[in-house]
Amino acid sequence: MVFDMALKEIDISSFISKLTKIDHEYAAPVIDLIQARTKEPWKVVVATILSARTNDKTTAEVTTRLFKKIKSVSDFKKLSIEKIEKIIYPVGFYRNKAKYLSQLPDSLESRFDNVIPQTVEELVKLPGVGRKTANLVVAVGFDKHAICVDTHVHRIMNIWQYVDTKNPFETEMALREKLPKKHWKVVNHLLVAHGQSICRPVSPRCEDCVLNAECPKNGVTPRKSKTASKKKFTNSIKMISWNVNGIRAVEKKGFVDILKDLEADIFAVQETKAQKEQLSDDLINIDGYKSYWFSARKKGYSGVAVYSKGEPIDVHYGMGVEEFDNEGRVLTLEYDSFFLVNCYYPNAQHELKRMDYKQGFNAAVKKFCNSLKKKKTVVICGDYNVAHKAVDLKNPKTNEKNAGYSIEEREDMDRFIKAGYVDTFRMFNKEPDNYTWWSYRFNARAKNIGWRIDYFCVDSRSKSRVVSSEILPEIIGSNHCPIELRLV
Ligand code: SF4
Repeated sequence: MVFDMALKEIDISSFISKLTKIDHEYAAPVIDLIQARTKEPWKVVVATILSARTNDKTTAEVTTRLFKKIKSVSDFKKLSIEKIEKIIYPVGFYRNKAKYLSQLPDSLESRFDNVIPQTVEELVKLPGVGRKTANLVVAVGFDKHAICVDTHVHRIMNIWQYVDTKNPFETEMALREKLPKKHWKVVNHLLVAHGQSICRPVSPRCEDCVLNAECPKNGVTPRKSKTASKKKFTNSIKMISWNVNGIRAVEKKGFVDILKDLEADIFAVQETKAQKEQLSDDLINIDGYKSYWFSARKKGYSGVAVYSKGEPIDVHYGMGVEEFDNEGRVLTLEYDSFFLVNCYYPNAQHELKRMDYKQGFNAAVKKFCNSLKKKKTVVICGDYNVAHKAVDLKNPKTNEKNAGYSIEEREDMDRFIKAGYVDTFRMFNKEPDNYTWWSYRFNARAKNIGWRIDYFCVDSRSKSRVVSSEILPEIIGSNHCPIELRLV
């Protein structure tokens, strides 16, 4: 891991110049291609609306199809919303986008005399146009100064430690302050291309990157050698577990792309904080996966879900204990040779107010898993909300009486291990400074002041099936990072 880098500012002009020189090797983002081909700002607006939450390939296919039928903005008036939906399917949120496109002619006419406006402040008044879209239209459609900040720009600028921000809006504001204007227009194109090809959200290819020598690599773990890992993991089942701290929030930070990039067979998430009906189609129906959701009764609270490539034999929602099942904390998928138990353990809370509830939950999970492990392998993944040993958090001494490291919680974890379960990460790695959760405060993640509270455990008889168990701290989007298990 690369943390605690000296905070020496990078030479931004040199970084951008190096990326510009190799830019021809990358596929240009689809919006640039549309502008290059058409030089028509309204098409850039439409394509940009369609491109949100949609990959470039789909955007390119859909815009080609659409622009064969629509020759000007007013042509949208001739089509019903259902017809537009049909043409633009399968872009993400196609129903909403069809509505926006059908409103576009009237909005343009009434507010802007049928002329596409050229400022961010005006463009955001059009239906379906947010800040990112507006900046992109100004920069690409009108060739003017604007900084379009998407997840790639936000992520990479923070990796470079050029900004220290929490979301794309903060990044846009910070870049407006410090980025020399000559770079405003190119930065989105360059960093999207770089983020899609080399500096990918998952395992950036630092060894192939022209910036490798100077890049601070803030919070990044470069990709390992593929050849070694591929050989070793052939035929294993790859599982990911991630407390996303709100599935709708992490969706905006590129969750779907991260899930696809990680190519797991099973992807378990905790703390979804949503009912299934509140979710977009993009989140529920990810290509190649079937998803299973178990939400808390209380809206916006707790909740777990699993995306699975293979069809499970059976799915168990909860443990049959109402006080815990009401909070949507345990979801179990049964496969031929193992059970995957996805758990979101309760937090004991400030002054350990919820300790009784947590200890009751811990005992119930243990009993539930004990009954499952009589039949076949049990994998228990999730946010256990406890750092087991001193090595599992940065500041054990000052946290001995706090939730997550109290003696009661540690003893419960001891009892779980004694009951016949193995913390798989510690099978391979005994080192300190390996964490899965960092406070949002005090720049804790950059300084790696964290806790290891997310685990993949297996029943001890199945220990020999574990090929590897790792933490993926480079993946951002939540205050937790994902963890990975490979099982044969
Ligand atoms: S790929 Fe690695 S070296 Fe290149 S910009 Fe990203 S983190 Fe830095």
